[in-house]
Amino acid sequence: MASIFTKIINDEIPCYKIAETDEFFAFLDINPNAKGHTLCIPKQEVDKLFDLDEATYNGLMQFSRQIAKAIEIAIPCNRVGLTVIGLEVPHAHVHLIPLNAMEDAKFGKKESLTPEEFQAVADAIKAAL
Ligand code: AMP
Repeated sequence: MASIFTKIINDEIPCYKIAETDEFFAFLDINPNAKGHTLCIPKQEVDKLFDLDEATYNGLMQFSRQIAKAIEIAIPCNRVGLTVIGLEVPHAHVHLIPLNAMEDAKFGKKESLTPEEFQAVADAIKAAL
């Protein structure tokens, strides 16, 4: 069965999209640790990040770097952190999280955003790309 992220890529379920290439896709995490929390994924559905072939892994890191630079411009923060977990969704993904304090890196700490706020955050990051 297709992962929830493959369904997002295929436009079968909605997301706040940031960017897309032939191989990669970035969108806002629906349960963000902090405003601007973004997920970067390969379109190829592979469960674990370190099981990606080397070219896809390197491409995902390059793509994530571009997105992180845009987040840093769009979202006031000390820096953008990169985390990989994958315990919830078995489709390799990189979390990019704007950090001001260690607390922002902790999963379980959630930020509530309205749909309008999510859209404004996505638009700001897109504009900074
Ligand atoms: P993990 O697999 O533990 O790295 O966590 C998966 C992440 O995906 C969590 O931070 C979720 O909030 C996020 N997530 C799950 N479903 C969606 C969705 N439909 N749209 C955006 N983010 C999602």
